[in-house]
Amino acid sequence: MNRISYLYPGLSNSLPYVSLGAFPTPVQRLERLAEGLGVSHLFTKRDDLSGATYGGNKVRKLEFVLGDALRQGAKEVLTFGFAGSNHCLATAVYAKRLGMRSISMLMPQPNAVYVRRNLLMSHAQDAELHLCASLRLLKLATVWQMVLHGIRQGRLPKLIPPGGSSPLGIIGFVEAAFELKEQVVNGELPEPDRIYVAAGTMGTAAGLALGLRAAGLRSRVEAIAVADTRFVNARAMLTLIRRTNDLLKSLDPSFPQCGFTEKDIHVNDGFVGSKYGAITPEGVEAIALMEQLEGVKLEGTYTGKALAGLVHDVRQQGDTGAILFWNTYNSRDLSSAIASVDYRDLPRSFHNYFEEDIQGSDGGSTESDSSLRQD
Ligand SMILES: *Cc1c(COP(=O)(O)O)cnc(C)c1O
Repeated sequence: MNRISYLYPGLSNSLPYVSLGAFPTPVQRLERLAEGLGVSHLFTKRDDLSGATYGGNKVRKLEFVLGDALRQGAKEVLTFGFAGSNHCLATAVYAKRLGMRSISMLMPQPNAVYVRRNLLMSHAQDAELHLCASLRLLKLATVWQMVLHGIRQGRLPKLIPPGGSSPLGIIGFVEAAFELKEQVVNGELPEPDRIYVAAGTMGTAAGLALGLRAAGLRSRVEAIAVADTRFVNARAMLTLIRRTNDLLKSLDPSFPQCGFTEKDIHVNDGFVGSKYGAITPEGVEAIALMEQLEGVKLEGTYTGKALAGLVHDVRQQGDTGAILFWNTYNSRDLSSAIASVDYRDLPRSFHNYFEEDIQGSDGGSTESDSSLRQD
């Protein structure tokens, strides 16, 4: 049974769910980083450890989203992202574990070490990969693949939205807020005043904001945007919160109606840089701080930018209460799983990512990645 059903028993039969991850994820004090920044209460939520083979924030959403696919008897799932998508990779890993094939419809993004790593790992997980040069082409290619797979399998692949951020997937982060509350109650950390988290499709930040309110915590979610305001903004996040709240309430009337307004939502678009996936100097600095002081590896597309927002705020505002950095990036080592994968076995359109340079210091490198750097 999923953990949120213990609190709202009405959800136990109605919510599709499959256990994939290892929860609760640990909370840890970031002692040296706190000292470096001159703050007293700085913690991290280790969602990077959410899964044994592949962690990160997508696992919580996939427990519900893939649970739904299973319940419907899907044999294949089709989802969307940019070339290095952690979401598409997580979907590939966990769909395969559940005996389903995955199809990833991908769009170009700036090159990075983690992009190469994720592409190789997706291939190792038997994901079918398609690179589409524009959103228009992606839509056309998706219709075509749906038809093709529908004919081959006798049924259509189950569609999973970008980032797994359907109201159903977002429930994973409502649950995460209750998990955090339990850790606060157990004395593992003080009630955070602010929680910093990267926001792409905003499902993570939306679920947390809703869950914190429902759990009676007053922590404020600081959603650090990783894409421009056309995609990441308070209004869109509000819509996600309301739709998720409506879904939960319709499944269990004892779930509170949380009454969010745009004022309750804090989206910071000051750290995106030129575009999604482009590294920024603030992000590179934040990644280096975390690595040097805490030995924790982040990347430049999401977590580096989220931490840059945190670092900026504490430098401006000083030591103002307890701060939690929600680590959304996988930290499981993929190097042995991809060691024998040759990029030339991927569809031709992806070869450029292995033959062209990566962005300067993209912060996504590790020693074990040296093989990914050769070119
Ligand atoms: C997908 C992702 C995010 C963003 O989560 P959303 O729910 O899409 O906002 C943040 N960090 C990492 C590492 C991710 O892969």
